[in-house]
Amino acid sequence: MNFLPYGRQNLDEDDIGAVVEVLRSDFLTSGPQVEAFEREFAAMVGAKHAIVVCNATAALHLAMLVGRIGKGHRVVTSPNTFLASANCAAFVGAVPDFADIHSVSYNLDPGSLEANWKSDTKVVVAVDYAGQPADMPAIAEVARKRGALVVQDACHGAGGAFIHNDKTWKLGAHPWADITIFSFHPVKTMTTGEGGMLVTDDEEYARKARLLRTHGMERDQSRFVGLGAAPGSQLSEIGPWSYEMQELGYNFRITDLQCALGRSQLRKLPRFIKRRQEIVARYNAAFDGLPHIAIPRVQGKHAHLISWHLYTLRLDFRSLGKTRAQVMTNLREKGIGTQVLYIPVYLQPWYRLTYGYAPGKCPNAESFYTEALSIPLYPSMSDADVCRVIDSVQEIAGKMGS
Ligand SMILES: *Cc1c(COP(=O)(O)O)cnc(C)c1O
Repeated sequence: MNFLPYGRQNLDEDDIGAVVEVLRSDFLTSGPQVEAFEREFAAMVGAKHAIVVCNATAALHLAMLVGRIGKGHRVVTSPNTFLASANCAAFVGAVPDFADIHSVSYNLDPGSLEANWKSDTKVVVAVDYAGQPADMPAIAEVARKRGALVVQDACHGAGGAFIHNDKTWKLGAHPWADITIFSFHPVKTMTTGEGGMLVTDDEEYARKARLLRTHGMERDQSRFVGLGAAPGSQLSEIGPWSYEMQELGYNFRITDLQCALGRSQLRKLPRFIKRRQEIVARYNAAFDGLPHIAIPRVQGKHAHLISWHLYTLRLDFRSLGKTRAQVMTNLREKGIGTQVLYIPVYLQPWYRLTYGYAPGKCPNAESFYTEALSIPLYPSMSDADVCRVIDSVQEIAGKMGS
């Protein structure tokens, strides 16, 4: 019996061939695959600029840097996310803070964002939990009125879209985010092994992100400010070797090997998403109405546009008469992996010690956390795999067979 993890990559011979071809080429990093992947990803999304980096955590870090976020600033995000959505604020000396999630979408609630607004808030990082888009128009309305930047952490949602005012808007190409971030970690909807993308329509953010990706090194001589030597001095001579470090940057580069994989995966993304949607529909049909279990619900009319990264059930473990650990162990014995996503970020010891956050801060996120269980969802699951998961979950809910 094959083990079904909660998520995994989907690679085929095309992907492998694309990577091997780069191994035989002249460039292993910072070569043509990087530029081509950026171009193709920007085109897929419909954005002006895409800057690819070594992981989405680095891309979130860059978003803070290009937004000139730092000491004295506050960055508000959803507590129902991976650590990196909040950590990026701390990287630059800003204070990560949290507003509560909506009880239907499990995404940042614009009402809670507004009610808890503090005047030093300079960025809102909205997260598309499980791939369901955050309510970007409402979030941008709250944030921009108060002068804050809007970053969308779409790490769960590559290839997804939403409907607003009867129009379809792709993640990464709508007017309610200044910067959008995607992740290509193997459990996400497409992979480069490790990798992340910063997408923006803003020329200056894009230029700065590229600069900071490679040590803050400027090679465009028209932008040089000089090394401080007297005119005519040999020290001030400019030649083909010249570069200036104008900002403190990083090495956030990604390899050509990874970008070749990314290009190959990008071509298959629509197929991946379609299969994810099929599995979600089968799960929904099987689990809807079961006692003590709630299926994911979509806020809005865009259920058919969501590139589901996770399928997360809410279970009332007390009524089921089992602890979550027992349910996870039972399922594991049947070869089914599950995961709990997410522990509210502000409850992490470092956050409690550094910022004094305590339980009770975001009641919806805490209640969601105590009930959440993500079950296997990835495109290479066979129909038989899906049936096995359905049977096992139904059994736990007290209904035998399907
Ligand atoms: C995966 C993930 C990240 C971090 O992505 P990496 O590429 O692993 O750095 C950030 N935010 C969210 C919501 C994620 O799911």
